[in-house]
This record gives sequence, C-alpha cells and structure tokens, in this order.
Amino acid sequence: MFLDGKKIVIMGVANNKSIAWGCATAMKAQGATLIYTYQNERMEKQLAKLAEPEDLLIECDVASDESIRRTFETIKNRVGKIDGLVHAIAFSKKEELGGNISDVSRDGYALAQDISSFSLLAVAKAAKPLFNPGSGIVTLTYMGSERAIPNYNVMGIAKAALESAMRYLAVEFGKIGVHVNAISAGAIKTLAVTGIQGSKDLIKLSNDRTVDGDGVTIQEVGETAAFLVGPLASGVVGDVIYVDKGVHLT
Ligand code: NAD
Repeated sequence: MFLDGKKIVIMGVANNKSIAWGCATAMKAQGATLIYTYQNERMEKQLAKLAEPEDLLIECDVASDESIRRTFETIKNRVGKIDGLVHAIAFSKKEELGGNISDVSRDGYALAQDISSFSLLAVAKAAKPLFNPGSGIVTLTYMGSERAIPNYNVMGIAKAALESAMRYLAVEFGKIGVHVNAISAGAIKTLAVTGIQGSKDLIKLSNDRTVDGDGVTIQEVGETAAFLVGPLASGVVGDVIYVDKGVHLT
C-alpha cells in the first residue's frame, strides 16, 4: 500500500458522485489517513454519511482567507504534518455557464477565477508549513481550458488559469520537496457539471469519444490521484495528466 501512514487533505467532497470522493476511496485503499474539508453545513451532512468515524472533517470555505487560515491551523493542531492535498473545488454562477462568452459579467468572471483558480494558491500557502518532504498536491482541471467546449465558457478560462497557477506552484513547492500536478478528467456527471447548460449533451459527447464508449469514472480519476499525490510520483512535476479514457485524442 503506497500511501500507508500518509496523511492526505481532501478538499471538495459534495456527495458520493464527487471526484474528490473517488480520490478519497482510492487513497484510503492505499492506506492513507484522510482529513476532509467541506464548504458549508449542507456539504458536511453529506460528507458525514460517507466518512468513517476516525476521519477528521473541517469546514473550509475557500472564498474566505480567514476560513482557510482556521482550517490549516486546526489541521496543524489536530494532525500535525501532512503528506498530500487534493484540491477538487470549482464554482461559477450558473448564468455564466451558457450563451456567449463575451456576455460574461465582471463579477461572474472574478468569482469563477477566485473559487476555481486562486483558491489553489491560497490553500497551498496555508498548507505549506505542514507538508513533509515527498508530499504531493493534485488539482482537478478539464479540457475546456484548451478547447472551446460549448457552454463551459468562464470555467474554461478559470481552468486555464488554474493550470498555469499549478505550474508556478510546482516550481516554488519543488524546492521544499512537494510535487504539484493536475489531472484533466473526462466529463463525469457530478453536482458541479449539472450547472452547465446542456450538461447531458456534454457528457454524452464525451462518453461517445472515449476509446470504448464508456465514460471515465470517479474511481479511475481517484486511482490516478492516489498515485500522483504520493511518493511514487515524486518525479512528475507541473504536469497535466489526462484521465479521460482518450477523449482528448479524438
Ligand atoms: P462536485 O460538485 O462534486 O465538487 C465540487 C466541489 O467544490 C464541491 O464539494 C463544493 O462544495 C466545492 N466548492 C465550491 N465552492 C467552494 C467554496 N467556496 N469553498 C469550498 N469548496 C467549494 O463536482 P466535481 O465534478 O467532483 O468537481 C471537482 C473538481 O473536478 C472541480 O474542480 C471540477 O471543475 C473538476 N472537474 C470535473 C469534471 C467533471 O466532469 N465532473 C471534469 C474535469 C474536472
């Protein structure tokens, strides 16, 4: 079990369909101890049903610097050092996920960037003193960062910024022995995806383009995240790894 004894922070479980939940189950299967953060009380209720009694659950709204500070202070006091962090967080106003990109509002653009891109840097900074050498950070992105995917719009721009932020972070954190990478996951039906106009068509289009016609699963994304966050991936730095069953090829 390659994550035996490793303490990993998982940010972004909304329910059992969440990619973060796929990451959590895969990492647990490899022996990791998990620390979950959730956005608000509603998410806590869902998470409490999934987590095991020994798992630590801490509120963290990444829109608030104070909430991020408190979260990592709590982790420091309750857990001490950590060995990894999964950032599986994104948000945009529903009205920005459809129509013409030129109609995007100034605050809708800023909000998507804040929650979906800046938050990676903010949580990494707060977690920095806690990482053991050999730790990993994994964030989740989507091909809409590179291609103009219908209706993905402002989130595609936020994902492009997230990928760039990940690369800069990889250079900085490499100096303290922390490898930082992103997974570009294929389209999966989660709470976040249902906010995109025509999300059913997006998922169908994506599934039709996988090599075998079946969509990628949160388990498959989670297995790659487990490898990428851990010491076996110490030589993988600043990369975007596709876990989409070949959709990006076709
Ligand atoms: P999800 O809805 O299950 O997870 C999104 C999470 O973001 C939720 O847990 C939500 O609470 C959290 N979040 C939003 N605003 C927050 C805030 N202010 N503070 C703290 N947490 C906040 O959906 P998902 O698809 O599992 O999304 C996880 C990540 O994977 C996202 O970055 C998403 O863009 C990315 N991704 C998803 C797909 C897909 O098709 N589902 C594909 C590629 C990448």
